[in-house]
Amino acid sequence: MSDADLSGIRARSFWPDKCEGAVSLSFDDAAPTHREIAIPLLDRYDLPGTFYVPTGGSGWLDHIPFWRNAAARGHEIGNHSVNHPCSRNFDFVSPGNDIESFSMDRYEAEVLEATANIRQAIPDQTVFSYCYPCYHSWIGSGATRESIVPVVARHFPAGRGGGERPNHPEHCELEYLWACDASGWTTEQLVSYAEEAVDQGRWSVFCFHGVGGDHISVDDKAFEGLLSHLAEQKDRIWTDTVVNVAISILKKRADLKT
Ligand SMILES: [Zn+2]
Repeated sequence: MSDADLSGIRARSFWPDKCEGAVSLSFDDAAPTHREIAIPLLDRYDLPGTFYVPTGGSGWLDHIPFWRNAAARGHEIGNHSVNHPCSRNFDFVSPGNDIESFSMDRYEAEVLEATANIRQAIPDQTVFSYCYPCYHSWIGSGATRESIVPVVARHFPAGRGGGERPNHPEHCELEYLWACDASGWTTEQLVSYAEEAVDQGRWSVFCFHGVGGDHISVDDKAFEGLLSHLAEQKDRIWTDTVVNVAISILKKRADLKT
């Protein structure tokens, strides 16, 4: 048996029931099309999603009851900071909100403020994951650059970053999960990414921004094609929120140690 076969067997042993792999559908930035298109489609196919909201933005502040109701139906409302600090190399980053100028204390305070905002609005949601704005896992630059992954590790069971490969449940870094940017993908591309991961027993985390509109978007029909496939295949592909899959992996890892 090859190393790849053995790796797949180990990976598949992590999944509940007869599932051969896992999928999480994550959505960044509380875009209008999340409320208008993505969540209605997810609800129609009875699939949960993970929505990373910057709590300083209007996509959160003007729609808190909507997000509370979405959480009550099984969607995860995750932390995406308050003001979405990113590298100043992006033109949309305003002066002072660039991670190059952040201290670790300031970054941690902002993350904790967003957590407090979400907890206050959705007290029934006891645990949720973090999403690194712009996938950035550091503050500072050059000689003063520092990783913020330890901050996320202290406060969350999982952090979602970016990276093209699906996650191996035994080996992946839960505090910086890889997620593929699926903008512009067709149904065939979306399904084949999920299915190739399932072949290897892995966990695909999709990163979406706009759905059928807004920024960095995926076509809504292409997206619906993926949902239809996942709903049809739910006996062999476990689709759940980032936090639920991460917690399940943590339990399995703990069991393997004992
Ligand atoms: Zn974002």
